[in-house]
Amino acid sequence: MTYDLLIKGGHVLDPGQGLDGTLDIAITSGKIAQIAADIAAEDAARVIEVRGSARHVVPGLIDAHTHVAYGAVTEGVGMGSCDPDVIGVHSGVTTVSDCGSVGVANLGVFPAYILPRAKTRVITFVNVGSYAHTMPGPADVNSLADINRDALLKCAQHNPGLIAGVKLRIVGPVFAEIGEDIITTAKAAAKDLGVPLMVHIGDFTARDEAAAARRGELTRFLLRQFEPGDVLTHLCTPNAGRVLDPSGQPYPEVAEARANGVVLDSALGRGNFGIEVARRQADIGLYPDTISSDLTAFGQTFHSLLECMAKFMSIGYTLPDVVKATTSSAAKLLGLQDEIGAIAVGRDADLTILDLVEGDFTFTDTTGQAFNGGYGLVPVHTVKAGELHAPGWGTHPWGWLPASA
Ligand SMILES: [Zn+2]
Repeated sequence: MTYDLLIKGGHVLDPGQGLDGTLDIAITSGKIAQIAADIAAEDAARVIEVRGSARHVVPGLIDAHTHVAYGAVTEGVGMGSCDPDVIGVHSGVTTVSDCGSVGVANLGVFPAYILPRAKTRVITFVNVGSYAHTMPGPADVNSLADINRDALLKCAQHNPGLIAGVKLRIVGPVFAEIGEDIITTAKAAAKDLGVPLMVHIGDFTARDEAAAARRGELTRFLLRQFEPGDVLTHLCTPNAGRVLDPSGQPYPEVAEARANGVVLDSALGRGNFGIEVARRQADIGLYPDTISSDLTAFGQTFHSLLECMAKFMSIGYTLPDVVKATTSSAAKLLGLQDEIGAIAVGRDADLTILDLVEGDFTFTDTTGQAFNGGYGLVPVHTVKAGELHAPGWGTHPWGWLPASA
């Protein structure tokens, strides 16, 4: 046998490299060995026949904003964060990034307990607040003393490759007072480590007009501090600190940051996706670079990365758009564009086989507003480094598809 596994006859869609057509993919020793129009089935030990126009083979999906510090930050295992494999390989996703579930004080849970048992590739962004055990609750940083640059640097030096980025959430009353100082200190901490800074905008604790205006000011300040590769997360948040001013116009700093190579991530989650905001942004061409789920233990009971993609399709984004936002663009966000996010000979065989299902579906944004869409996505197989993983039952009582309208 020449190959371990052959994925045959599938509609291969890899928008990051403009691949869109019927192709076979052969895998050996966990790597992609050949991509061609017709590879003989006899040459492979196992063959997956991909049939039907709805079924697509895409690069293994990457969820760039999740919470997978499973068992590390709550009273019991699984009460706050997700099991990385439940929202990873068993959900059609081959790579997840934990974004600030833990700070430097408890980051050790990843190499000690989480990474060794995960089949899914797990990337970690450390919270800039040393004891970020309140995720996803209120503030991680209550004063500048909560940011320990020395400890972060020591941790990075002792654990090469562990910290892919630094995460800050602009959440909590302290930002009204010393927001700029926290932002510049967090940026300096990320710079110390030579990694991107990812910042959560959208502050549900800022409830009156003055507090909201202050968060808008801080978002503008933040965008001016950002450098190429830094990440703004929760692009479509309806909360205070969003990127649109009260009249619906984006702040000028948004276009400037984007032109400068700042990444705009959507991270829908439980609190930061407003359908009106997302539609308005689509109308004015303010597209998210990446689609991520911001899944937590509670979030995973009602949505998934695939459902986040379907929500953007309801606005008019195409399947290639949402696949690009969860493959090549997400790989770039993580600085892993040379390793993951593309179907190419010699790379790890990370692939997602999924069905695009047409129907009348209904979704709810994080303000409770319902909206309809015409597509749902269902994972069929996940291939991670050549190994097959079956999808779980799905997020809803009936499975993977969004709710019927
Ligand atoms: Zn998050």
